[in-house]
Amino acid sequence: MRIYIMTDLEGVAGVQQSLDWCYNNGRYYNKAKEFLTMEVNAAIEGFIEAGATEFLVADGDGAGGIDQLLLNPAAEYVCNWPAGEASFSLTDGKFDFAAWVGQHPMAGTAGGHISHTGNMGVVEQAVNGIPVGEFGDLVFLATELGIRAILATGCEAFCREAQSLLPGLETVAVKKGTQTDPGNYLSKDAYRKHNISAIHLSPEEARKRIREGAKRALGRAKKEDFGLAKLPAPPYVRTRIMRADGENPPRIIKQSHPSSILEMRRSAISVEVMPINPADPAIRKVIGS
Ligand SMILES: [Zn+2]
Repeated sequence: MRIYIMTDLEGVAGVQQSLDWCYNNGRYYNKAKEFLTMEVNAAIEGFIEAGATEFLVADGDGAGGIDQLLLNPAAEYVCNWPAGEASFSLTDGKFDFAAWVGQHPMAGTAGGHISHTGNMGVVEQAVNGIPVGEFGDLVFLATELGIRAILATGCEAFCREAQSLLPGLETVAVKKGTQTDPGNYLSKDAYRKHNISAIHLSPEEARKRIREGAKRALGRAKKEDFGLAKLPAPPYVRTRIMRADGENPPRIIKQSHPSSILEMRRSAISVEVMPINPADPAIRKVIGS
């Protein structure tokens, strides 16, 4: 049994904020990688206890979030994808199930910790009008490919996000964000520093809960039916509302395809500069009200 594990740094217990912890010149970057890798190992151990044998760990963090020397040797590791590869390796061989470790909530999530989608410039991402963070965006693809998501770990707000997309999903909360202002009106740099307040479990306790959660997730997945999203009807359109950035005004980035989520992700990006109409709810999200 082979399991795909998508990973990210910002949803890990002990990872406190973005600048010092998640950038490769940050002073605690190596510590953050260690924390994430140990949480991934905890998930792998739980899955092995429940009968899984093979793993592909996908490094979803831009700078790289895994310390391969510390990673459980049962796992293969993938990072850096060729241009046009739009599946983060979900299409690399056959997977029985998929899991997410260290994931953060989507941009603008009240009560989330280090909430963002892709980068701090994105105010909202949506597929066919359904707001999705990094998790939901990839879950739609996994669903199209027939791969069930069975486990997701991160802050409490992320767990709520994951559960609302996939009822019945096993989730493990390792911290609780305490910023309640979504911060959609903030500049990119201000937003990066905005939602960094949280109450964290100890890394050891987080790993224990993740190990137990992974074991439970795989055990339940063999008996219960959960983990595939309700896909919107095609054609598919993915939009990202972007903050003003340098010379660029607020803008919308779009990708589309008549019938396939995977091909939509591979399609060329078109950019629309948003007209500034303060009454438009999409604009209000960018500039604040
Ligand atoms: Zn991320």
